Amino acid sequence: MNPHLSEFELNASLWEEPSGSVAGHLTSCADCRRERDLIAAPLAAFRDDSQQLAARDEFFWSAQRARIESQIAARSSQGIPGLAWSMVVGLIVLGVFLLKPAKPPAVPAPTYSQSIRSQDQDFALLVEVEHTVNSQVPDALAPATLLAYEMNRTALTKSK
Ligand SMILES: [Zn+2]
Repeated sequence: MNPHLSEFELNASLWEEPSGSVAGHLTSCADCRRERDLIAAPLAAFRDDSQQLAARDEFFWSAQRARIESQIAARSSQGIPGLAWSMVVGLIVLGVFLLKPAKPPAVPAPTYSQSIRSQDQDFALLVEVEHTVNSQVPDALAPATLLAYEMNRTALTKSK
């Protein structure tokens, strides 16, 4: 068993009043006292430095405040130019590019012979339909032809 103080006990003795046994060992053991002082001395120096920094006079802090305020003012007066303007210009250019109507795909105009051929095909189809309509219909559809005949006749007499 280690008779000296543990690292935890040494650290604890730095920020709180050591308990009776720890305090007693520290007073009697030079090794543990030296160990504790090795940690305590730099900590105390650090504490003193930060307290000195924090305890600067009002003149230092008002000068610091004025310097920060002047830098903020300088930045906000620069503000928009530079990057922001170049971004705005970039967005406008992009918008114009996107809004430009796309060229419609060129559809070749039908040549004269093609249009004649398509008219011929239409006429041929019309003739075929007429043939089908006028051809003999099955007996089952005979009433329908009668109906169609009557409808045609009615339409003809009305148009006269
Ligand atoms: Zn000891």
